[in-house]
Amino acid sequence: MFFHSSLLSIQEKKNSSTTARTVCCHVLSFLTVIFLTSFSAFAQDGKTHLQWLGQSAFRITTPNGKVIVTDPWLKGNPLTPAKYKQLEALGHVDVLLVTHGHWDHFGDAPELARINDIPMYAPGDLNQSATLLNILPAKQLPRMNKGGTVSPVAGIKVTAVHAEHSSVLVWKDPQSGQEMPYPGGEPLGFIIELENGFKIYDMGDTGLFGDMKLIADLYKPDLVLMPIGGNFTLGPKEAAWAIKEWLHPKWMIPMHYGANPLAKGTPEELIKELGSTTTQVLVPKPGDELVF
Ligand SMILES: [Zn+2]
Repeated sequence: MFFHSSLLSIQEKKNSSTTARTVCCHVLSFLTVIFLTSFSAFAQDGKTHLQWLGQSAFRITTPNGKVIVTDPWLKGNPLTPAKYKQLEALGHVDVLLVTHGHWDHFGDAPELARINDIPMYAPGDLNQSATLLNILPAKQLPRMNKGGTVSPVAGIKVTAVHAEHSSVLVWKDPQSGQEMPYPGGEPLGFIIELENGFKIYDMGDTGLFGDMKLIADLYKPDLVLMPIGGNFTLGPKEAAWAIKEWLHPKWMIPMHYGANPLAKGTPEELIKELGSTTTQVLVPKPGDELVF
């Protein structure tokens, strides 16, 4: 297996002796040494800090110190480290992104929006349902749709792209206690461009679709966050195909596995399916932080 050394070179500047000891190791053990064990909540070192919190939840600190949170299903997520089940432990959040209405993505997003007094960026028609259900005030439920780009804070651009999936919002009526399904809009992926041009493609929940190639050709993401669990999304075989044939990112991080017993795909299977590739597969444990 061949890996680019770009991430390694970033880390070499920080800790050359540790890196030198680990360069020849298997990818999974090699990577653990470049992950920081505790998250620096207010990192403002000009780099991108990314922390996986289980399933599709990530906390990203941008080079200018803004905090982006994606698909925050935390309180009920068996993979989320205990401290982050208290939403305040995330610190201040500047940008909140939700790919679709399923509970393991929408989860704690309204509460997080409320705590931080920020908008929840999500599929427009999902936010319309949320507005009509009074889940949040309308000013916190901006509308966007595929192909559109928004700039939630200065220097950060978020473009909504296709995801091959479904979306529904199941919401409990506070009066009757009855759960009902509401329109969840079209599921999205996000191209997140940070202040320094670093691009993250958060694929959301998706199966294979040919326009993944178009999206990668147009936006040229550096890092792809990709579901691999199968059953509901891409499994290892499909994810490996998309990486090798269409996406060719420098780095990818597998997500949406291990939290639901039906999503059985593993990073090990993905790496086996990939074989020789120029894409570096990064496999954080929940709570680990990566620095780019
Ligand atoms: Zn879903």
